[in-house]
Amino acid sequence: MKWGSQLATYTPMIQQYLEIKKGVPDAFLFFRLGDFYEMFFDDAIQAARELEITLTGREGGGTEKIPMCGVPYHAADNYIARLIEKGYKVAICEQVEDPAHAKGVVRREVVRTITPGTVMEEKTLNGKGNNFIGAVVEQAGNYGIACSDLSTGELYVTSFPGAIASLLDEVNVYNPAELVGDQHVLTQLQEGSSWGRNVPLTSWEECGEELLEQQFSQDQLDQLSGARRRAVKVLLCYLEDTQKRSLKHLTILNIYEPKQFMVLDYYTRRNLELTETVRDRSKKGSLLWLLDRTQTAMGTRLLRRWIDKPLLSLKEIQERQDAVEALYKNMILRDDMRRELQPIYDLERLVGRISYGNANAKDLHALKLSLRRVPTLAELCSQSGAPVLERLVSKLDNCEDLADYIDTVLVDDPPLSLREGGLIRAGYDSYLDQLREASANGKRWLADLEHREREATGIKNLKIGFNKVFGYYLEVSKANIGSLPEGRYERKQTLANAERYVTTELKEKERLILEAEEKMVDLEYSRFLELRDYLMDHLTRLQKVAAVVAELDVYQSLAQVSAEQRYVKPRIAEGYDLHIEEGRHPVVEAMMDDVPFIANRTALNTEEQSILLITGPNMAGKSTYMRQVALIVIMAQIGCFVPAQSATIPLTDRIFTRIGAADDLIGGQSTFMVEMKDIQIMTEQATASSLVIIDELGRGTSTAEGMAIAQAVIEYVHGSIGCKALVSTHFHELAHLSESLSSLANARMAVEESGEQVTFLRKLVPGAADTSYGIYCAQLAGLPDMIIKRAYHLLDSELQNKPAAAGAVMPQLPARPEASASAVQAGEQAEEEFDLPFDLGETDDQAARGVMKPQ
Ligand code: ADP
Repeated sequence: MKWGSQLATYTPMIQQYLEIKKGVPDAFLFFRLGDFYEMFFDDAIQAARELEITLTGREGGGTEKIPMCGVPYHAADNYIARLIEKGYKVAICEQVEDPAHAKGVVRREVVRTITPGTVMEEKTLNGKGNNFIGAVVEQAGNYGIACSDLSTGELYVTSFPGAIASLLDEVNVYNPAELVGDQHVLTQLQEGSSWGRNVPLTSWEECGEELLEQQFSQDQLDQLSGARRRAVKVLLCYLEDTQKRSLKHLTILNIYEPKQFMVLDYYTRRNLELTETVRDRSKKGSLLWLLDRTQTAMGTRLLRRWIDKPLLSLKEIQERQDAVEALYKNMILRDDMRRELQPIYDLERLVGRISYGNANAKDLHALKLSLRRVPTLAELCSQSGAPVLERLVSKLDNCEDLADYIDTVLVDDPPLSLREGGLIRAGYDSYLDQLREASANGKRWLADLEHREREATGIKNLKIGFNKVFGYYLEVSKANIGSLPEGRYERKQTLANAERYVTTELKEKERLILEAEEKMVDLEYSRFLELRDYLMDHLTRLQKVAAVVAELDVYQSLAQVSAEQRYVKPRIAEGYDLHIEEGRHPVVEAMMDDVPFIANRTALNTEEQSILLITGPNMAGKSTYMRQVALIVIMAQIGCFVPAQSATIPLTDRIFTRIGAADDLIGGQSTFMVEMKDIQIMTEQATASSLVIIDELGRGTSTAEGMAIAQAVIEYVHGSIGCKALVSTHFHELAHLSESLSSLANARMAVEESGEQVTFLRKLVPGAADTSYGIYCAQLAGLPDMIIKRAYHLLDSELQNKPAAAGAVMPQLPARPEASASAVQAGEQAEEEFDLPFDLGETDDQAARGVMKPQ
């Protein structure tokens, strides 16, 4: 609707509204009018719908009523939170002059725009997760990104030459709530994205250098150039425009090079369920869930970041490993540390609130309690005998002076409200103490008065009370009114069965008491602000403590899980070869309660094979096996121990996965197209140090084409990339590739058959499977015999027309496919003859096997 056309006829207030709205066209304008925030015009129509509140109309001078809706200001937080959660922005417009002194319309201004990426309210922030806003720009072919969590003060900056795909991968790491920056970059990101929520994108320009200079030290700025510098400038400029206040906690620039970390694209993160599950996007069931034994919110966030960004530096990984090992081996130290960490509040967010100016006395009290734990933590580290832990705390400034200062100023359990007194400790301010004494005296005097008046009148239930309208009064029940002396009592209020009176004496005392209380409240408030302002000058010190606490927390968390789950310290190597003895899938193992997880060996190296082509029926454990290898590599590179008997992990620069069909149909693309695009990225970006995992390569198109593409892709990985790869396929016909590709070996998931049952042994054995058991599965599922027979018949003629490279056994109904038992034997035999990359392990534990029973 076009409302602006009638501008001249609108009332001055509506004109003011429209003028202000021009400055925030993409936000709901919460326009303060007395005790309400009102919305008008299109904002009102949309807000009424989104918030399910009543849409009304208001005369505004135009020809029609202006649509209007509103929320009471004291309940606005909830409404704002709901809009923000839906991805909207809300501009808060307040009256900035006293209406009593205003000439004409009261002056109003937008004091802050709340957006999904800049929200500071606890209600909306997810306790333990980050809430990032990102700025993305392009400059001279480089993509720059600056991501900040305003609530914690974190700020990360990097850039990528060339490919927008790399920028998108990076953006996805942050899972931002909001993006700003160059329009064309935003558009490109949006096209390639599959964000599960509404991420507002705002085209935004940089402003001058002053903002940068205000915020960061020259040393830091010297390291910031090109697209990175512009990204930070755009971000700061947007924050300045929306927040309209200084952000003193945003002073540490974490600038990093992309090649410092392993690259994991969005699908790989998702497929491997690093921080959330594919099925319901919940944390439970993810690697993060498994590894998270952190005690503090900072620790949880840092752990997530480590999982999101595995390291590529041998030295850094080994340092983390050493810290984890020290805690892994020393249970008492670990327990002590967990005990000290547990009561520590979210220091980063406390710092954020101090900087933002919305920390209350409870927050500062929490800060004090948290800081009090730091010396003991530091002591534990310096006596741990572990050089990494010792180093971490050797120069730690534990901010004891700040804790002491808070302790001197604030009482032990301060109230939430800052404007009702009761905040400041006795003895801190002598004038405040005097006022308190006066007020206490006054109250004693009141108690005496009550006593005196009861005596004088003989009314036993005469009492003194207080309310905000009438102040102090004497209350007498109706039955006793007759006993009151004439003249001295002035009636103030009549209740159903009592009368309330004042006396001149009472009024006089009341004035003194109330004056003292008002002064007390004001004085307490200003003393509190002094304390908060003082802390504001020490934010960086506090942030450093927070960082150390977070790091210690992650170490103990990794050590705790590793010890509980019997993980081992992997050897990290700079070479090519990957070797895992008795590897397990960490999450599947942790989720299984009654049956044990069957461990498997993995050897991908230059001597034997670098590519495994895995065949076997559905449900045999192929994808679990492949994921477990990827997860072990990731765990190793974040510094954690791994689920195996022993492991040597080469530094892996990137993991590609192409797994599963759960959410392939994005943006109307076919499964096959998505698969091909992933493979294209892999062919473009994989290096010899990468690990490639492809589940069911070549599905989604005709058999002949699928197989042809699968073979061509495998040959390319083998010949042109030379990286390690695990590929599963149901084209068992591809097994012949092992003859032509020297570094490729066939493997399959062993299956045992007896009578009516097929048992999955979950063991990877050498050699190719000779059937997919697809029709057999159909039979077990209870499909009519007619269909089964017909299917076998069709399969038979298909195979006869086109003899496949590896051949296939044609089972007869009701005979079972026979090959696997003999293949297991062949495997066992082979193992005796040469060093196998597979471990047959124990195969007789029925309980551990998946057993398929006919219905
Ligand atoms: P596939 O990829 O061959 O279809 P999956 O890897 O999905 O099979 O495995 C099917 C199920 O078998 C898994 O959900 C898991 O519960 C179980 N499983 C897989 N591997 C193992 C193992 N090594 N030990 C025990 N159970 C396993």
